[in-house]
Amino acid sequence: MKKVAILGSTGSIGTQTLEVIDENPDQFCAVALSCEKNIELLIRQIEKYKPEMVVTASETDALALSKKYPRVYFTFGPAGLAETACMDCDIVVNSLVGMRGLTPTYKAVLADKDIAFANKETLVAGGSLIMSELKNCKGRLLPVDSEHSAIFQSLAGNTDQKEIRRLILTASGGPFRGFRRGQLEDVTVEQALRHPNWQMGSKITIDSATMMNKGLEIIEAKWLFNVPQSQIDVVVHPQSIVHSMVEYFDGSVIAQLGKPDMKGPIRYALGYPERIETYERSLDFFEEASQLTFEKPDIETFTCLKLARQAISDEESSYPVVLNAANEILVQLFLEKKIKFLDIQNNIEKMLELHQPEYRLDIDQILEIDARTRQEVIRLIL
Ligand code: MG
Repeated sequence: MKKVAILGSTGSIGTQTLEVIDENPDQFCAVALSCEKNIELLIRQIEKYKPEMVVTASETDALALSKKYPRVYFTFGPAGLAETACMDCDIVVNSLVGMRGLTPTYKAVLADKDIAFANKETLVAGGSLIMSELKNCKGRLLPVDSEHSAIFQSLAGNTDQKEIRRLILTASGGPFRGFRRGQLEDVTVEQALRHPNWQMGSKITIDSATMMNKGLEIIEAKWLFNVPQSQIDVVVHPQSIVHSMVEYFDGSVIAQLGKPDMKGPIRYALGYPERIETYERSLDFFEEASQLTFEKPDIETFTCLKLARQAISDEESSYPVVLNAANEILVQLFLEKKIKFLDIQNNIEKMLELHQPEYRLDIDQILEIDARTRQEVIRLIL
């Protein structure tokens, strides 16, 4: 029985992780849950899974719940998440949104935990730090991002860098595939949230619409698989059936295919190195996979892809921290309808231009640059 601690249990990945646990009650149990806002759902989860530990955002919620559930240990805030990441468990699922996922991942690495991470911002902002710590620790970093899970599966343990010609990340292209820049001027939040293939949280759905999601994934893949960004290509594949590929130096391309369903990568990460059986129907090659098409990404329109490559080409620098922080705050402002869609990419570009890079960052410096960048973005646009 694997004991699973879930950070972000009420979000999209968190709830799907619990569904995988439900399907395999003899293999997994949830020992920790955490939630930011959806207390009602959290209560239902506490009653169903009877976890040992629960993290809420506020102290008030933690105190109120601890009266109701005296057998559960309640904690709260960033310190509570960090504490939970180090608890007695077999695997930590980090499905927190954004930079708040960095410290728990870092603590879990230091505590020798296996980490199934859906929080790509962890590696975007802290890739150098996390990967260097991981070398001295016993835990493993298991990707829950569908593209990275596909590459992880296509590598099948092959870590000989010489043999890898390139990694090929597939992108759905999001709701605005084929749009030119002028057509993006006035697109609305509602349009941007309408993703054609994947059901996801709002932050990542907007990132898919701007294609920053793919930019962040290039950086994530660079750190996770130790392949330079120049050897990571992006291919638009609107059907989202080929989840990503590895090309070897003999010209052979290995791909991983499946239905666009996040439970696939969740199962693989939770069960690793074993596969978990599912009773869902097979991929239908005569229906959903009958036409698989591939296109070049339009980086002149969706400049986030270019910006992410620029940021990570200075590998050990603070540029990716700025890219990520600026993106996070700008996406939030777009969701609040305070800025337009194109203001996201335009302002990230400005922030990168203004930034004086720093190097060899520890965790406090990363968090400090992140906080400073958010303030500077607000000053820049107001
Ligand atoms: Mg992805």
